[in-house]
Amino acid sequence: MNDQIFKTPIEYLKGVGPQRAEVLKKEVSIFTYGDLMHYYPFRYIDRTQFYKIKDANPDLPYIQILVRLKSFEVIGEKRAKRLIASALDDTGEIELIWFQGINWVQKNLKLNQVYIIFGKVTYFNGKAQMAHPEMELFNKATKNNGNLTLQPVYSSTEKLKQHGLDSKGLQRVIANLLDVCLNDVSEVLPSYLIHQYKLNTGAVAIQNIHFPTDNLSLKKAQNTLKFEELFFIQFKMLRSKLLRTRKFKGNLFENVGDKFNYFYQNLLPFQLTNAQKRVIKEIRLDTQKGIQMNRLVQGDVGSGKTVVALMTMLLAIDNGFQACLMAPTEILATQHYHSIKALLLDDFVSVKLLTGSTKKKERRIIAEELESGKLSILIGTHALIEDPVVFKNLGLAVIDEQHRFGVEQRAKLWKKNVIPPHILVMTATPIPRTLAMTLYGDLDVSVIDELPAGRKPIETLHMYENQRLRMFGFMKQEIAKGRQVYVVYPLIQESAKLDLKNLMDGVEVMSREFPLPDYRISIVHGQLNAADKEFEMQRFVKGETQIMVATTVIEVGVNVPNASVMIIENAERFGLSQLHQLRGRVGRGAEQSYCILMSSHKLSKEGKIRLETMVKTNDGFEIAEIDLQLRGPGNIEGKQQSGIMDLKIADLTHDQKILQEARKSIVKIFEEDPELQQPEHAILKTFVTKAENGIALNKIS
Ligand code: ADP
Ligand code: MG
Repeated sequence: MNDQIFKTPIEYLKGVGPQRAEVLKKEVSIFTYGDLMHYYPFRYIDRTQFYKIKDANPDLPYIQILVRLKSFEVIGEKRAKRLIASALDDTGEIELIWFQGINWVQKNLKLNQVYIIFGKVTYFNGKAQMAHPEMELFNKATKNNGNLTLQPVYSSTEKLKQHGLDSKGLQRVIANLLDVCLNDVSEVLPSYLIHQYKLNTGAVAIQNIHFPTDNLSLKKAQNTLKFEELFFIQFKMLRSKLLRTRKFKGNLFENVGDKFNYFYQNLLPFQLTNAQKRVIKEIRLDTQKGIQMNRLVQGDVGSGKTVVALMTMLLAIDNGFQACLMAPTEILATQHYHSIKALLLDDFVSVKLLTGSTKKKERRIIAEELESGKLSILIGTHALIEDPVVFKNLGLAVIDEQHRFGVEQRAKLWKKNVIPPHILVMTATPIPRTLAMTLYGDLDVSVIDELPAGRKPIETLHMYENQRLRMFGFMKQEIAKGRQVYVVYPLIQESAKLDLKNLMDGVEVMSREFPLPDYRISIVHGQLNAADKEFEMQRFVKGETQIMVATTVIEVGVNVPNASVMIIENAERFGLSQLHQLRGRVGRGAEQSYCILMSSHKLSKEGKIRLETMVKTNDGFEIAEIDLQLRGPGNIEGKQQSGIMDLKIADLTHDQKILQEARKSIVKIFEEDPELQQPEHAILKTFVTKAENGIALNKIS
């Protein structure tokens, strides 16, 4: 075995050379033998089966038919010029047609020969037709293909094709590659797992993923490579979790003290839901073990995560620690500050807010009080971890809306105390459980799966542009009842200017429809400075304005219980999870709330499914599942931190079972042999050693 061979620069491979190497690097990031070996086909053409012309139909994928070429002729002029051929088998006739490369085809076609034609069959005027078929003379084809029955198809690009690396070209160089290094492919999984899950050994999997002999061997190779991939992503995460719990002690929150109890008995304005109680209990158990807690609390918008965070902070304080809460935006941090202040009595515990706009003098006071321990709770944006803020004894850090905080940022927090603080991450972006396992594999997960009692489910409607007057009428009706309304415009990140224009056009329409003095409108968008934003927000929060026109800056966390209508303009331009987040801004009070999705009549198929889903369900987890199916996991927020982007073959939508099996086996390994000392784990030990020596983990070969 020789691992080094996989690091050989790709230009040294037979059939590649410096020029093609350059294109391979630029176009598809293939630098080495190893990279090329892991460049898998994205589909396979079934060469095992021949169709008859009478059975061919447009519903079939690319198929092959054995035909005899009867005639061909060029017709039309210039741009309309085309080559039409007629071919027969014993069941009927098919028309073959070329619009390009006509001269070349014409020169090479041989009348009365038997060909394998390959392509997609369509019907035109009741006649079977195949455009630009791939053609091979029957004899030659059978000789060349050998026992290759499933032909790999590799994705290529224009540039690659110009250099002779279309799918077929790639197939050739990969065949050369396997000739020289298939024997050097080393095993990566312990052999008992290969046995238990009926996987291939490494080399066989590589051989069969590129050149399968039949569907069964292909399937097995795919399973093997998916398993390997999902195994090592999770192995890394679970191992770092293991190391962390070993390396760091955790602060002990053993006592439920005065602050917690007093708050619970005297200040809490409502009954906790059972889900909230359960999550608080899970946190309590976690914080008594002497190991550092890293817990993700998932709960739909409005499920009441803030109060869970607050009570955990009180628990920290009761045990002599300080706590901090971080939010992704200033608006949200400020909102948290106000709502937490409102829940606590003035001098009950000391709480302060630190954001980008905090004045110097106030900053100094905060710094002093944090260091002396006078300040118990600090709320802020992530400026909080960048800031050279020194705590006397930080015991807990709460991070709201996790997906904007990476693993590395979390790690920074650990340095804020001798014993790293417990970490509680809160997110309203519901993530299917299995996906959460991979995304946040190093976190434990709690779920608040219940909304506070008395909430009426939000009613969602989809309206088209021509129903706009009806929508205005509805707004007026609700405002007359004393309610407030959000109107949200999409944010096109590429063009801040265009966003603003969109929004301002909207504001103009709104101001005409809802004129002063009867109506007042707040306007909030990303280009306002913090003070103006806050001012506009507060006018709406206090009920001085009835309508808030905004871009998606209001997406996370804003809490105005009296707002009962959410209008989303150009709703088709939003993703599902974002729509769901926005809808969650209403339905926070006792009133019946509504969400109106405005769209044009022109909807993509996917856009239509998104809007229908929103109308159909309020369940965040169901929406997340559908979102996952529509977009694939590659587009789920937070993926950048997880390695999911690098998945070469596994697909989290379809391979959840493999994901779970892989995880199960890793958990078992760490339970039974955490040091990886048993001989059958030597292979994993090597992997770990390599990893610790800084070798890229996803390039194991
Ligand atoms: P989210 O989970 O989206 O962060 P919040 O914590 O902002 O939700 O809570 C939404 C609203 O519900 C707040 O006004 C909060 O005071 C209220 N709330 C939270 N828990 C309960 C409960 N158990 N009963 C009634 N209202 C609650
Ligand atoms: Mg919240």
